[in-house]
Amino acid sequence: METITHNLIAVFIQILCFLYFIFPWNIIFTIMFAFLSHIIVDALSFITYHTPNSMKEDKFWLIWHYIIYALSMFSIVLFVIPYWLSILFANIIDLWDWFTLRPLQKKIKHKNPDSKWGDKYYMHKIVDWVREKLFYWLPNRIYKKSGILIEISIIIVFAIILGLLNVSLFID
Ligand SMILES: [Zn+2]
Repeated sequence: METITHNLIAVFIQILCFLYFIFPWNIIFTIMFAFLSHIIVDALSFITYHTPNSMKEDKFWLIWHYIIYALSMFSIVLFVIPYWLSILFANIIDLWDWFTLRPLQKKIKHKNPDSKWGDKYYMHKIVDWVREKLFYWLPNRIYKKSGILIEISIIIVFAIILGLLNVSLFID
């Protein structure tokens, strides 16, 4: 799903872990659950509007992504202190796959178009596996524009929960 969704859930996880576990378990569980949350949340992303490739010629796709990228950036700025640990681990799979492996692969394929290097290092393969095992029964809505409503609902629910938890006051 989108970065803001991962971030809100990550902040929620860190708050709970620091509330209920003592050092060093609060840190260990924050890392573990934040990482796992990305897998679960992404495994569910196919019930939201999530086209596999960018559709820059499609106005709806473009506007939605402008908004959601801006909100994602905002959520990082807002929460990075003090929630950088959970935010980092809740996004590490994307940081690796989309911002490290894919650009590397592009470079290699530029020189050698037949290269298959890197294909097996994609961490979203774990996501696909979880989706097939656990969520195969859910409808596929990746091209349904109304799917953004599901993602927006999740964002609103977690924003409210964080508000109720007094997120801004929480610094351990
Ligand atoms: Zn992802």
